[in-house]
Amino acid sequence: MAKVIIPTPLRQFTAKQDSVTVPGTTVGEVLTALTAQYPDLRKQIFNDEGKVRSFVNVYLNDEDIRYLTKDATPAAEGDTISLVPSIAGGSALSVTAPPEEVTLSNDEILRYSRHLIIPEVGIEGQKKLKAAKVLLVGAGGLGAPLGLYLAAAGIGRIGIVDFDVVDFTNLQRQVIHSTADVGKKKLDSAAAKMQGINPHVAITKHETALTSENALEILKDYDIVVDGTDNFPTRYLVNDACVLLGKPNVYGSIFRFEGQATVFAYEGGPCYRCLYPEPPPPGLVPSCAEGGVLGILPGTIGLIQATETVKLILGIGEPLVGRLLLYDALGMRFRELKLRKNPECPVCGAHPTVTKLIDYQQFCGVPSAPPVQEAKMNEGEIDVTEVKQKMDRGDNFVLIDVREPHEYKICNIPGAKLIPLGEFPKHVGEFDPEADIVIHCRSGMRSAKACGVLRQAGFKRVRNMVGGILAWSDKVDPSVPKY
Ligand SMILES: [Zn+2]
Repeated sequence: MAKVIIPTPLRQFTAKQDSVTVPGTTVGEVLTALTAQYPDLRKQIFNDEGKVRSFVNVYLNDEDIRYLTKDATPAAEGDTISLVPSIAGGSALSVTAPPEEVTLSNDEILRYSRHLIIPEVGIEGQKKLKAAKVLLVGAGGLGAPLGLYLAAAGIGRIGIVDFDVVDFTNLQRQVIHSTADVGKKKLDSAAAKMQGINPHVAITKHETALTSENALEILKDYDIVVDGTDNFPTRYLVNDACVLLGKPNVYGSIFRFEGQATVFAYEGGPCYRCLYPEPPPPGLVPSCAEGGVLGILPGTIGLIQATETVKLILGIGEPLVGRLLLYDALGMRFRELKLRKNPECPVCGAHPTVTKLIDYQQFCGVPSAPPVQEAKMNEGEIDVTEVKQKMDRGDNFVLIDVREPHEYKICNIPGAKLIPLGEFPKHVGEFDPEADIVIHCRSGMRSAKACGVLRQAGFKRVRNMVGGILAWSDKVDPSVPKY
């Protein structure tokens, strides 16, 4: 008998339960009993050979079962088993001894006085902060608190990599940007706020996506890299580049009410690939855009990353190395799991197979050219204006909405039948295989999957409404709110 803690992304398969107590004397037996109770969970945890998938880690209490006796690890009454899927986060630093020429002006001494009177920081520590060069990858949810506080703390040079533009949907959490910044480059908006807080900080703007071609060149000039990205290709890219360059990677990731943080690739500690050798298949793990995120959550996780960054620079305290910190905002609980360096790790192990940067889009199974909304319709796709024409003509067709009920409440298209994607396969039998069927979701990703399900079942006249209800709002009915 053991309690299994179910993380948010997997709760859709456990009738929304956040923990389930199931019988079994080993971890393997407990997981088998769990997936017998919730069959939909099975393919999320196990592969076709019945082995635990490489993007899900299983912990007994705070220890990874890979370092115990794997499936055979005994599970006793009172033990807690955690499923930890990847979530669409010393003194070796060159700044430990600040160069002689780093000095603090009287203005700076006054500004940092509350640091200077802490013995662990003091004048020497503040000079280390001033000598430090920190790169923020992303000026979004995590980048916002990081940028504000690291600037305030007096980091000498802060680089930011971002090429995005501030959007209304960012303002709920990306507190470095204001309403007046909507439409401006995030780089400019963030830099202006940081410079406003502390004019002594030098800010370097890297207006680009981080790629395999430019990552090493950009990262090499910094002491610490802070990962504030929200996608798997960039996360693996940042990890590998940090390992190859020997730079610490301060990681954080967020989803709905839960976050993770740790420091990778620091003084022989584990890297992201030691934890997750491979990314989840595209689409299995929803991004914040699909799954949502509590606006405050990136504040909490970003500030943990900022704290670790400052500690590494000052060389004080116990860095979050070899430990994965899990935060659950709903339960208001922090938990900590041990992270070990994997000797077989493909990038930081004894015999690495990844010795230069690779194609991370391909590695993560993401199509290299993202679909463009205005592109001409492919076979099996339909434009929103054509759907409207079909409605106006009174064509006999079925419109299916595969979003979640709480999204349907925000906005919907009259006449659309709501069947959330997760339940979709169970409803296939309800439709006529000869019927003219159009499927939509928010932006067109989930509906494309639902179309695939029907086509596999032999349906011929199935089309995906390109751009989803967002495109419907843009082109057909502007009164429909976008979210
Ligand atoms: Zn590694």
